[in-house]
Amino acid sequence: MKKELIRVIVTGGAGFIGSHLIDGLLNLGCEIIVLDNFSTGRKENIVHVKNKIKIVECDLSIKGGWIEEFNNIDWVFHLSSLADIVPSIQNPEGYFCSNVDATFYVLEAARLANVKRFIYSASSSCYGIPDTYPTPEAADIKPQYPYALAKRMGEELVEHWAQLYNLPAISLRFFNVYGTRSRTSGTYGAVFGVFLAQKLSNKPYTVVGDGNQTRDFTYVTDIVGALITAAESNKVNKIYNVGSDTTVSINKIVYLLGGDKVNIPKRPGEPDCTYADISKIKDDLGWMPSISIEEGVEKILEDIDYWKEATVWNPDSISEATEDWFKYLDK
Ligand code: UDP
Repeated sequence: MKKELIRVIVTGGAGFIGSHLIDGLLNLGCEIIVLDNFSTGRKENIVHVKNKIKIVECDLSIKGGWIEEFNNIDWVFHLSSLADIVPSIQNPEGYFCSNVDATFYVLEAARLANVKRFIYSASSSCYGIPDTYPTPEAADIKPQYPYALAKRMGEELVEHWAQLYNLPAISLRFFNVYGTRSRTSGTYGAVFGVFLAQKLSNKPYTVVGDGNQTRDFTYVTDIVGALITAAESNKVNKIYNVGSDTTVSINKIVYLLGGDKVNIPKRPGEPDCTYADISKIKDDLGWMPSISIEEGVEKILEDIDYWKEATVWNPDSISEATEDWFKYLDK
């Protein structure tokens, strides 16, 4: 019997996670439409598949012709969003537009088109500084900065659309996603991008505090597996943590990458540990992570040239870039 063609929209498909998801969906034989405004997503992330997908450049935070793309769509993966902490403190309006307004319009488009599945990329930053480790989905919600708040507000919209309109939606709370193509837009961002650029220019890794803090680093192809598993499932109106089932210190990352380090001041408002309790997604969806930190770092190092033109941060430039972080979060 011929398999039915699955038609998919990926918002933010030119971004880090989105571009990996496209690779996974093409392997499944899906027909794909990418909606992206290319503000932080990169054309080069999807250049290798550009003849196999439809790309629509558009602004999802305002109503527009892009809504017609939702006709006959089966699955929607809503991944587009602005990331990074410091710019969200400095420019909260942009974060509200991209992460809240856009989620509203994408939800409406999906609802009116009667899509079969809607998967939202939520963030573990909603837990702030958690009281419980590993942290379950039922833990307190304590966003510490506008990025975390806006992602959480998007998640609340998704929950509401699922409750009220029966939109078949699932939200996945990602923990510290890393992998190839994770370069940021030039702002001071996720640790792997910072360290890989430092490695390429033989500069010391800027380790925050004593480096004993740990993160639940989750490899991007495991995230893709969780996204597709959620879309294929029949669960609705659920929220799941997606993590690696362990937590790894920054000092271990430095050891795996190899090279010198320099310590910089501990940052206010950030947890000493992130560590997802993933028993809910394991039990409900049968999803499990499969890439160890050793394998993930090895993979990322194979592609280190991707970070060739990335900003190389040092203690002084970080201190300057994080001034507002310390100003507002050091309470
Ligand atoms: N980190 C670091 N040096 C840097 C940037 C980050 O040691 O230049 C550490 C940071 O203290 C945190 C971890 O790396 O423990 C992950 O930081 P990231 O900003 O990537 O994610 P988040 O803090 O939001 O979990």
